[in-house]
Amino acid sequence: KEYEKSNMKKTASFVVVGHVDAGKSTLMGRLLVELKYVEERTVEKYRRQAEKSGKQSFALAWVMDQRSEERERGVTIDIATNYFETEKTKFTILDAPGHQDFVPNMIAGASQADFAILVIDANTGAYEKGLKGQTKEHVLLLRSLGLQRIIVAVNKLDMVGWSKDRFDDINQEVMGFLTGLGFQAKNVDFIPISGLNGDNIVKPIEADSASWYKGNTLIQALEAYEPVTSQAIKKPFRMAVSEIFRSQQQGTTTLAGRIDAGTIQVGDALLIQPNAIPVYVKSVVIDKDSQEWAVVGQNVSLGLSGPDPLHVRVGDILCPYDNPIICTDTITIKAMAFEHIMPMPIDLHKGRLHIAGSIVSMVATLDKATGEVIKKKPKVIQPGGVARILIKLGEKVPLEAGQRVVIRSSGETIAAGLLE
Ligand code: GDP
Repeated sequence: KEYEKSNMKKTASFVVVGHVDAGKSTLMGRLLVELKYVEERTVEKYRRQAEKSGKQSFALAWVMDQRSEERERGVTIDIATNYFETEKTKFTILDAPGHQDFVPNMIAGASQADFAILVIDANTGAYEKGLKGQTKEHVLLLRSLGLQRIIVAVNKLDMVGWSKDRFDDINQEVMGFLTGLGFQAKNVDFIPISGLNGDNIVKPIEADSASWYKGNTLIQALEAYEPVTSQAIKKPFRMAVSEIFRSQQQGTTTLAGRIDAGTIQVGDALLIQPNAIPVYVKSVVIDKDSQEWAVVGQNVSLGLSGPDPLHVRVGDILCPYDNPIICTDTITIKAMAFEHIMPMPIDLHKGRLHIAGSIVSMVATLDKATGEVIKKKPKVIQPGGVARILIKLGEKVPLEAGQRVVIRSSGETIAAGLLE
């Protein structure tokens, strides 16, 4: 209640997916320019550089892809994390590249995202191909990681004269595609935009031919996202440690992270898993300000009595002392294998599992019926397939149903899924 009354800002992170050249980088660059996070001057600078290499139209994309290697190749390689704030919300952009060899980076982004923006190239003939190829794989990934909400940015509508028919056709086809993959229509929005010209992103569309559209701008659709549901607040407190600081005060350690569930108050008794270290909360700090409490979705630094920082690791989980997360070495996950990365069946015995920042080896797959270790025939996931896998881990780790996991093998992310 106190939270609802306060005018504290919401936080939300999103990933941007879509076919290469759909206009993801251009759109995000444009968004940052319109919100005055990047100066038009900077874009001009990139534009001039771009002109020299005959790639003028890439200027806005370059705002996002500032590293020279990326500029040379004209694609986004790493996930470029960017922040921006609107009146109500603090957003983190986990940008996603479109090239198929960069899918592993997108997985990293998607596994942290609250929702996704799917960019569709509305230019004639472009998006239909995408629904079968990269776009499909991206959307399946979102689905297998349990993301529920998608904002579909129907981009480049300037190239088809802001045709309402074109927008409606895409709307219908993409909605069918998404609901077919298990998304609920009520969680999917379609917004007509031009990333290049900046239409309907922050400001409404200016073109007369778009007067048929009376709906939200992209930023309004972003703001409509309700990240802090009453459900997530009611769940037991959970926070994965992302940073560890030794404090000036004796006997205090500060641990920072994003609250994954529940609420926290000064005075709460917590347990740090997997090593079962008991601590008390001495302070709650958000954006350098001391607070009495914090809730799911917020990035906090917690001053804790007790723990020796040597015994706390990044990826450890903070939870209530009297309602701790359970540590286990036997788990069931439902995961999807990526066709583009691994055209061969995945041998699960060779994989490594990434969970909430920590890495554990998968030492065996177990027979679902008997719980016995499968020795003879290694279990495999076929490319593009989804499998329910029972796994024995090399050590006990704090785990919970619904957690997102990715499986890596030989340095590549080959599958992603949810813990059951
Ligand atoms: P990404 O690979 O999805 O990040 O795509 P980019 O942002 O690099 O854009 C690919 C190309 O499409 C570039 O030449 C952009 O200038 C162009 N582009 C992006 N958005 C629009 C748009 O709304 N209208 C038009 N006409 N071109 C666009």
